[in-house]
Amino acid sequence: MANNPFLVDRLQGLGTTIFAEMSALAVKHDAVNLGQGMPDTDGPALVADAAIEAIRAGHNQYPPLPGHPVLREAIADHQRRFYDLAYDPADEVLVTAGATEAIAAAILATCESGDEVVMFEPYYDSYAATCALADTTRRVVQLRTPDYSFAADELRSAIGPRTRVLLLNTPHNPTGKVFSPDELAVIAEVAIEHDLIVVSDEVYEHLVFDGRRHVPIATLPGMRERTVTISSGGKTFSFTGWKIGWACAPPELLGAVRTAKQYLTFVNGAPFQHAIAAGLAMPDAFFEGFAAELQAKRDHLSAGLETAGFAVLPSAGTYFVTADITPFGVTDGLDFCRSLPERCGVVAVPNAVFYDDKAAGSPFVRFNFCKRSEVLDEGVRRLRAMGEASR
Ligand code: GLN
Repeated sequence: MANNPFLVDRLQGLGTTIFAEMSALAVKHDAVNLGQGMPDTDGPALVADAAIEAIRAGHNQYPPLPGHPVLREAIADHQRRFYDLAYDPADEVLVTAGATEAIAAAILATCESGDEVVMFEPYYDSYAATCALADTTRRVVQLRTPDYSFAADELRSAIGPRTRVLLLNTPHNPTGKVFSPDELAVIAEVAIEHDLIVVSDEVYEHLVFDGRRHVPIATLPGMRERTVTISSGGKTFSFTGWKIGWACAPPELLGAVRTAKQYLTFVNGAPFQHAIAAGLAMPDAFFEGFAAELQAKRDHLSAGLETAGFAVLPSAGTYFVTADITPFGVTDGLDFCRSLPERCGVVAVPNAVFYDDKAAGSPFVRFNFCKRSEVLDEGVRRLRAMGEASR
């Protein structure tokens, strides 16, 4: 990509996100968009109605900086109800403009210029950009296929004297990995040993399958005091465009994040804050039902991708499944995804964009299954036709 002369050096190469690029290709080729992770069905009517009611009730001006008390209380109740984690809504809960802002504010607030942030690769794209914005250096530890496990000694050796933050994402985008309790224990041990802050991105906390349970790292001994736990209403309630996220942390740590956050957006989404509060209070049946629905879609798409010729990797959570393209006789996922919309009218995302080690991610592409069954069917039908033509 050519350098933009107006852009500062540390943002060169960040260009346009892969999601924007691929969604634009989807529109251009009228393709089935299994790229950018966004559902094609709205979330619960109760939540949508609560947003409309909040607008009519006049919740249309700036909410308080840390978020409307109704939502902060709902977030604290949610953390207690699902994880037995106690946060005081007065000074341990912060509402943000999506998880994206919470992540950015957490890094900007806690890292000096030149500090290091350790993260696992593949990593969600905003992490690299956020580190660049904050003038910090990322150090990556690779999650290795087929189970996307990591070596504890590699994690240990990624930590240096300037490491300030360990940025974790579970359930994990793009792989669908859910970190096991043992893996979390290793991460916690390293964080405590090196006195690191853990920024834990848990936006897919409710999208876990096959009877697994999401475990916030803040629940491990010695971790609550050093962890900023981040989530968002976007995925849980299928309203990704509302951008209501949040962070939970002890008062001083959260206060630091709040200071950075107030100069990013100050506040956002007043009526949606009320609606997400209503969503968080929904009965367990909603959360379980939604995960079961997505699990069925995962199975449906994974089986379809196999029949189209992909080697599909297991996905334990999120909206996503990763597939290996080597059975098609190619290994360049970026090239594959750039040509796929024109070749067969389907959009996927190349996992290489989530890696520093491009070669390691190259043969893998990510498909989302948060679409209606008939859309998944049509995507698979088109991919099969391509697979048959290329054999
Ligand atoms: N998180 C979504 C994904 O991984 C995309 C969000 C975005 O477009 N920035 O597909």
